[in-house]
Amino acid sequence: MSELLIFLGPPGAGKGTQAIKIASKFGFAHISTGDMLREHISNETSLGKVAKSVMDKGNLVSDELVIEMLVERLRNDDCKNGVILDGFPRTLPQAESLENIKNEFPVSKVFVFEVDEDELVQRILLRGQTSGRTDDTEGSIKVRFEIYMQDTEPLINFYHRQEKVTKINAVGDVDEIYQNIAEDLNKYL
Ligand code: AMP
Repeated sequence: MSELLIFLGPPGAGKGTQAIKIASKFGFAHISTGDMLREHISNETSLGKVAKSVMDKGNLVSDELVIEMLVERLRNDDCKNGVILDGFPRTLPQAESLENIKNEFPVSKVFVFEVDEDELVQRILLRGQTSGRTDDTEGSIKVRFEIYMQDTEPLINFYHRQEKVTKINAVGDVDEIYQNIAEDLNKYL
């Protein structure tokens, strides 16, 4: 049985940065479905070809494809010590897919990253100057926010009902935010 931690929050909230740091400190695997999809695109796989235009517009890749990709990834040996999911689940069907495998991979905690929207747009536009990400454009960012509000934010309630949510103030110093998450996890583990 490997426990899953979920990092949930709008685009640009710093989930990836924190996930990398926390994963390395606690020996967890860091799984970013966005990174996996970008890898498919650069390797020009059939999934990558489907995903590219969807992602460039800021829309979501289909649940079926992402769930299959994620479940396969969880079978890797590096997931045995625990996993941080960064960017998954993003929809109710994705969250429900985790319920189906909860005997093997129970969701232990959901960290919700809170940042206000103006701050986020600035962060993403700045990131776009260096990341080379073709979806860090103003048009795509707007779509990604709308989708976050519509499809992903309701998951906070879904996990709140299971008493798994910890809110993280994701504005401010990266190391302070990291300390807050690490402290909370240390209490839990
Ligand atoms: P991210 O790197 O998490 O910001 O993801 C970049 C893009 O990849 C998103 O805008 C989606 O198009 C796609 N993507 C990543 N994760 C998922 C997911 N769980 N479900 C659907 N699409 C996803």
